[in-house]
Amino acid sequence: MPNPLYDALFGRHIGQSTAFLILPDGRTITHDQFIRSAARYANAFADKGLTAGDRVAVQIGKSPDALALYAACVQAGLVFLPLNPGYTAPEVDYFVGNSGARLLVCDPADVSALAPVAAAAGAAVETMDATGRGTLRDLAATLPDTFDTVDRTAEDLAAFLYTSGTTGRSKGAMLSQQNLLSNAETLVDVWHFTKADVLLHALPIFHTHGLFVATNIMLLSGGAMVFLPKLDIDQLIRFMPQATALMGVPTFYTRLLSSDDFTAGLTAHMRLFISGSAPLLAETHKQFEERTGHRILERYGMTETNMNTSNPYDGPRRGGTVGTPLPGVELKICDPETGETLPQGEIGVVEVRGPNVFQGYWQMPEKTAAELRADGFFITGDLGLIDEDGYVQIVGRGKDLIISGGYNIYPKEVEQVLDDQPGVLESAVIGVAHADLGEAPVGVLVADGSADLNLDALSQTVAQSLARFKCPRKLVVVDALPRNTMGKVQKNLLREIYADLFT
Ligand code: ATP
Ligand code: MG
Repeated sequence: MPNPLYDALFGRHIGQSTAFLILPDGRTITHDQFIRSAARYANAFADKGLTAGDRVAVQIGKSPDALALYAACVQAGLVFLPLNPGYTAPEVDYFVGNSGARLLVCDPADVSALAPVAAAAGAAVETMDATGRGTLRDLAATLPDTFDTVDRTAEDLAAFLYTSGTTGRSKGAMLSQQNLLSNAETLVDVWHFTKADVLLHALPIFHTHGLFVATNIMLLSGGAMVFLPKLDIDQLIRFMPQATALMGVPTFYTRLLSSDDFTAGLTAHMRLFISGSAPLLAETHKQFEERTGHRILERYGMTETNMNTSNPYDGPRRGGTVGTPLPGVELKICDPETGETLPQGEIGVVEVRGPNVFQGYWQMPEKTAAELRADGFFITGDLGLIDEDGYVQIVGRGKDLIISGGYNIYPKEVEQVLDDQPGVLESAVIGVAHADLGEAPVGVLVADGSADLNLDALSQTVAQSLARFKCPRKLVVVDALPRNTMGKVQKNLLREIYADLFT
């Protein structure tokens, strides 16, 4: 009975005693053990009355059992809906209500807060803690470790993944089996993953990066993962000798570089370092190469599309770029007003089309119609350009564009100048309401401690590199930029904090 995603990622490993998950306490879970555990959970879901197409919301800590729930959903034809454990009860209320989930799996510690939420949405509740224990495992343990895989087609939905909510309320992106499988196949190929690979996995598994990019690739290639509960630099360093590849958000790399234990010797055997989910500073790219001799491979994707572009495995990996469109993915830069394709080198909205592009936002027909064109192109909302070598550069999000006195200011251009100044670690440039200009650029800086920051002198230096309208009207220094779990700078929070700066 066909179930393309299950067959390709999971079914192929039945009976395989090869290592799949290597845990920090030294335990190893084989492919076969993982598949059997998933089948028990598939039986548990069936026992609870769930049938093909039902949504299963999961808000739990990262564990091998949590990952097995993903496999169980695919096998049972259910739509997997993972949620950030950081969400509060009112937020979970939105996701469970919005998705129409039939079951919510949550941490036992959250049951009292979430049971009413689930009840209001008509969903049942089961528990699982960060070690995998709870009512769901108790039930699964009584059930068989094989399950009759439910038939699915490539067009059937496999997951709802809510976007990170960086620019507004999270949207449930409907992803089909084909969306996930086509991208995993492409990435295994372009990044040369094989069963000899061991991926250091310290990403969350409620997001595209850790769940689909990392896990699907390793399942498809047959390799193993050192499965760490969260980002802990000492653990990354401790387990690096066992690994061949690392996938991280930029914070992984800046934190690794801040450790003296992170040396060229430690990385000499590594095959690949990949970064994504947020822009990697060109400076980090450079420092990483100086320290280790490895060039980080940066790629670009999002919840709605999986991965769209990647720097090359064999060709030049360029810092500050996200590489070229993946095979099968079309990418164009369009005028935000007219939708016309812009000439090479001009900045516009990035649009993508391919088998990776999602099926629409769940129960948001207007939003779907506004962002997904009839011809299949998805309007990503990111601004970017294609350079003369065909490499894509992301210059920021459309929503972060600053329009000051009628002029467009791309924050990244200003941030790059600020970041280059001595004493500046990093910066975020935002638009703040201004009586005269509509919006005025404000630079929020983080010091690196190497030099005293004289903001007046800094403003004067910046004015030598940037046209006057682009120069921040005000610079402020903060201890750290606000970031969400995926390492994305939360400019909406900064805009709120500084909203009254000019009034
Ligand atoms: P929301 O859509 O809810 O506002 P979000 O866009 O942050 O949240 P995700 O789907 O997790 O949610 O993130 C995708 C976005 O992350 C992309 O649209 C892009 O802005 C950014 N991104 C991902 N990779 C890169 C990269 N390598 N360089 C720059 N930006 C990146
Ligand atoms: Mg988005």
